Amino acid sequence: MTESSTAAQRLTEERRSTNERLAQLRDDFAAIVAASADSNADDEHDPEGSTIAFERAQVGALIEQGERHLAEIEAAQGRIDADTYGQCESCGRNIAPARLEARPIARTCIDCAGQADPA
Ligand SMILES: [Zn+2]
Repeated sequence: MTESSTAAQRLTEERRSTNERLAQLRDDFAAIVAASADSNADDEHDPEGSTIAFERAQVGALIEQGERHLAEIEAAQGRIDADTYGQCESCGRNIAPARLEARPIARTCIDCAGQADPA
């Protein structure tokens, strides 16, 4: 069947776009860090200073999220190589194709996801 090859294609595409997003976020992060180095860090009441700190935290969180997502994609690609892709890690049944299409990095079937994995 062609199913695993389309999953591989989806994961490759997902990996590419995630890497692009991460590169963009890292640029943003570097720009924010540079901007905060320029601003007067001594003035706690500087409204711009707190905005920068907030943005830095936001972008930092997005970078972490993207890195986790990338690790999930790589794990899913490893499962394709190991020929265990599409198998629920919890109960061993096949994951529904519609779920894999919507969420190519899914490790568990929808039933197990509802119980254990909030993602
Ligand atoms: Zn399951």
